Amino acid sequence: MKSTMMDFQLTLAPMLERAATLYPGVEIVSRMPERNLHRRTYADLANRAQKLARALIAAGLQRSERVATLMWNHSVHLEAYFGVPLAGGVIHTLNLRLPPQQLAFIARHAEDRFLIVDEVLLPLLQKFISEAPFERVFVHRTCQGSSDRYEDYEALLGAAPDDSPLPQLSEYDAAAMCYTSGTTGDPKGVVYSHRALVLHSLALALADSFAMSHNDSVMPVVPMFHVNAWGFPYVATMVGAKQVLPGPHVDAESLLDLCEREQVTLSTGVPTVWMAVCAALDKDPRRWRLAPGLRLVVGGSAPAESVIRRFDTHNIRLIHAWGMTESTPIASTCHLCASLGEMSEDEKYAIRATQGTPVPFVQARVINQDGAVPWDGKTIGEVQLRGPWVASSYYNMPELSDKWTEDGWLRTGDVVTVNKHGYLHVVDRTKDLIKSGGEWISSVDLENAIVGYAGVREAAVIAVPHPKWDERPVAVIVANEPRPKPEELNEFLAKRFAKWQLPDAYIFVEELPHTSTGKLLKSALRDRYRDYLNGHFTIAD
Ligand code: ADP
Repeated sequence: MKSTMMDFQLTLAPMLERAATLYPGVEIVSRMPERNLHRRTYADLANRAQKLARALIAAGLQRSERVATLMWNHSVHLEAYFGVPLAGGVIHTLNLRLPPQQLAFIARHAEDRFLIVDEVLLPLLQKFISEAPFERVFVHRTCQGSSDRYEDYEALLGAAPDDSPLPQLSEYDAAAMCYTSGTTGDPKGVVYSHRALVLHSLALALADSFAMSHNDSVMPVVPMFHVNAWGFPYVATMVGAKQVLPGPHVDAESLLDLCEREQVTLSTGVPTVWMAVCAALDKDPRRWRLAPGLRLVVGGSAPAESVIRRFDTHNIRLIHAWGMTESTPIASTCHLCASLGEMSEDEKYAIRATQGTPVPFVQARVINQDGAVPWDGKTIGEVQLRGPWVASSYYNMPELSDKWTEDGWLRTGDVVTVNKHGYLHVVDRTKDLIKSGGEWISSVDLENAIVGYAGVREAAVIAVPHPKWDERPVAVIVANEPRPKPEELNEFLAKRFAKWQLPDAYIFVEELPHTSTGKLLKSALRDRYRDYLNGHFTIAD
């Protein structure tokens, strides 16, 4: 039997149209590089995004061609999120924290035709433009006229032909593109279809995901230059929520000031951002009058359980989510659910620190050498994914096809356990697991426990080669003065870990290295401390 439903394409166009029709006056507030607040509405956004689409077509942009952006989080970037795909093009967000040579490589690999760049980022562009492929560069000017070298973005919009028709889009058309941040080798391009972005948005808005509505005021702190700011600008537009875009000012005080001023109800960020925010709140809990029921989505790496607890004391709920560039990115979210039954407070926090359960339509299986792992909360295996917003290949890198299994599952490279209710707990990335005397030790579990010790600001636990045990864990720690004593830290950890799992050394440093998206750069630490335990006596001896 043939269905009697319409053939209605799931594209970004109706999302924007709905926001402009039903929520024309709802604001998009941007904190500009110069710190001033700039306000537009969904009516403006739709109007300007359509102008951008028409202008790009008039400039010769063909279907599926890439328009790169080099921009912070603000409303012009949001315009490009919609305007480029409305033109039939693909928005390629360049990660401005990457080294210039890598940006040039990525722009060439993606064959970006045009670039839209923030004026304040022109010095960065200068460092790689000679090796980049851009035919035309449009500058989003905010500090007036510091460079006449490139074309003006507003002039591009001003020259858009009136009301020329926009192309008919198919839901399978490419709409956006992002490269992985290169924590594990060279950056790899992932291309998102309209359909993937739309379905991902619907899943994120669900009550058991982030329960987003038109009454929300949504502040993506996660950069719009990495994995579509986790999709939140699209979801916020879909539901007609106010958007608050913090620009380059993402220090704790600036964020809290903005949260208070714009009464933010939902925000997104990596653990380091929220740890700094939590420290500011701990220090001066009465300073900010935040919206009641504020939710903060945390992901990118695992937050320590202690941070979830500390936020609860401020009546702010941290919601844990997990995903990757290849999964658009949200694949799982964590909420307590009634079927978990009666639990102690400690058990509840332990669950909330897990990566939770897959969102609808994302299928997850956990595999080790013996096949599917039992749901016992102990056995580890790699989590593999399938779903409508999970990539099936990298852009133009056929040599990396072994990232997918023969039956089409994405190998995430994340090692997890699954509890009896199906909650995933990421214990490590495959390459970060520590193998000591034939047993696996989770660096993430140790790190999260160490961060719970008074005065510790950040911790990385790495595998260091050892002559007898193969590898042993070593903790590299940033802490306030006076620094904790290693014996005390060891005693603290011994309450939660077996003796053989405890780090062999505690090294205190001023700063830990991070990737361009704020994750610990453990490969650099592994290189630095490669010989640290050579021949040393260890606790495991
Ligand atoms: P890259 O792979 O270049 O670092 P991604 O941003 O795609 O860039 O990173 C995805 C990876 O980040 C995941 O595979 C996982 O290892 C880690 N990650 C993401 N969210 C979480 C989380 N909530 N807890 C633990 N690890 C996470």
